[in-house]
Amino acid sequence: MERRYDVCVIGSGAAGGVVASELVGAGWDVLVVEQGEHVPGGAYLVDLIPGYETARARTMTGEWTEEGYPWTACCVGGGTRFYAGVSLRMRRVDFDAAGHVAPDALPPAWPFGYDELRAHYDWAERALGITSDGGLDPQRPSPPLDLLPAHRPSARGAALVAAGRSLGMRPFPVPLAVASAAFGDAPACADLTACTDYACPSGAKGDVHQRLLGPLAGAPNLTLRTGLKAVRLVQDRPGHVGGLDCLDLATGTRETVRAGMFVVAANAIQSAALLLRSRSEFAPDGLGNDHGMVGRGLCMKAGQHVRATLAEDLPEPLVAAGGRYATVALTDHYLDPDCPSGLGGLILETGPLDEDRGNPRVLRVECLVGDQPMASNRVALDWSALDANGLPRLVIDYRPHPLDLERLAYLRKRAAELMTAAGATRVVTEPMDFPLGSAHLHGTCRMGTDPRASVCDPDGRVHATDNVRVADGALMPYPGGVNPTLTIQALAHRLATSLVVDGKP
Ligand SMILES: Cc1cc2nc3c(=O)[nH]c(=O)nc-3n(C[C@H](O)[C@H](O)[C@H](O)COP(=O)(O)OP(=O)(O)OC[C@H]3O[C@@H](n4cnc5c(N)ncnc54)[C@H](O)[C@@H]3O)c2cc1C
Repeated sequence: MERRYDVCVIGSGAAGGVVASELVGAGWDVLVVEQGEHVPGGAYLVDLIPGYETARARTMTGEWTEEGYPWTACCVGGGTRFYAGVSLRMRRVDFDAAGHVAPDALPPAWPFGYDELRAHYDWAERALGITSDGGLDPQRPSPPLDLLPAHRPSARGAALVAAGRSLGMRPFPVPLAVASAAFGDAPACADLTACTDYACPSGAKGDVHQRLLGPLAGAPNLTLRTGLKAVRLVQDRPGHVGGLDCLDLATGTRETVRAGMFVVAANAIQSAALLLRSRSEFAPDGLGNDHGMVGRGLCMKAGQHVRATLAEDLPEPLVAAGGRYATVALTDHYLDPDCPSGLGGLILETGPLDEDRGNPRVLRVECLVGDQPMASNRVALDWSALDANGLPRLVIDYRPHPLDLERLAYLRKRAAELMTAAGATRVVTEPMDFPLGSAHLHGTCRMGTDPRASVCDPDGRVHATDNVRVADGALMPYPGGVNPTLTIQALAHRLATSLVVDGKP
């Protein structure tokens, strides 16, 4: 007899890992379909990217290229395997930024506010082991849990703290999914590298493979299939999906897996692509796409790095191999009446470029603003151009909004002032390329109560279906101005909790 799982989770990343582990814990028979493979501790993302599928995308100036990047990372654990672990909660304003977006934007308000997500943020911080901000984050929406002490600032971070304070700003320690002390079975961080782009071999980084999926290996009710690409959700009657067509990437064979419930958690670009590929007689334009909303509202954050060379060496030597990527952040310009639209964003310490490693005079920060959700910014498929797997070419059609570029320019100026206060002799801005694809992916299957203006209901259920949920950043009507993963995980936990309450399908 063909096995019919209780639930099929598509993607084993930040969102899929949370949903799968919660449902396994609740006794569901769970299948996880993951396109990527396990990556060993010590692997670098840069070595894997050449093997990844690309997308057609626009450059910063709007020209098309075939080198778009539709991933965070394609592997067990998804982007978390390689992430820097920056784990900030979204700010209260991020849940309703309606007063801060341009008139041509899609409505940015979430269908619920911060307080609805708060308990799920608490869960995520406890499950992953998020370090404290020391109670110093002035914009934090609720007090810190203080599970693990804040990380000590790096030499770069210490310089930013001193400079920020001299300008009357309130720098604070970045909450990280990187253990600052032993956490359960995990050791404290050994400072091997800067964490980002690197699969932590020690277990100190709280990626979902390490914290959630790995410990479930051997559970009889969890099946993790790697190297299997979800191609198309198959409706066997209107509004009900009976199977998922998959492609085994090693053999090129096709198979259909069966489940009572399907949870799509493939990243906001790939989740939308899967729904768009799921055309049928009941859904000729793709599943959930009756009103042409699937793929629209793609947000990737407007972000740019600012780098400075200081007159003096930093106060202590940099850790030779790395030192954590981000230890200090500033949100003083998050809500700032002088910033265009009144909504600024985050200034975050970031690790040096490879060529600057070991140079004790280089400071670097990232400026991040949440981008306007635009109907014209979208994921689409080109059915006339097939990729190597015979599937329609993935298209990332994204142009930065002028207002977002103005907001980013404002934040850049504030970052330059900070660098100058730290003793910079030379401040340079690095080129931007986020329209090609970013690690911050949101908004392509927006949740809302109006089926004509959204793809999913507030619980992630694809409108007019009874057994398909979207669980990742695709749900987010507005991306917020902080790194997204903790919010994606809180959302995924909220969704998993609601599935458990509903009971097995
Ligand atoms: C180098 C780097 C540093 C980062 N640093 C931070 C940080 O410090 N803080 C932060 O908040 N965020 C960070 N991020 C972003 C973070 O990784 C993402 O926000 C997060 O992983 C997104 O979660 P997700 O579940 O939506 O998607 P993912 O984690 O990308 O998981 C999706 C999974 O689905 C799989 N998949 C895709 N399509 C299919 C398909 N058709 N069939 C089967 N499987 C499929 C993918 O292989 C992947 O494993 C970073 C990302 C990178 C790459």
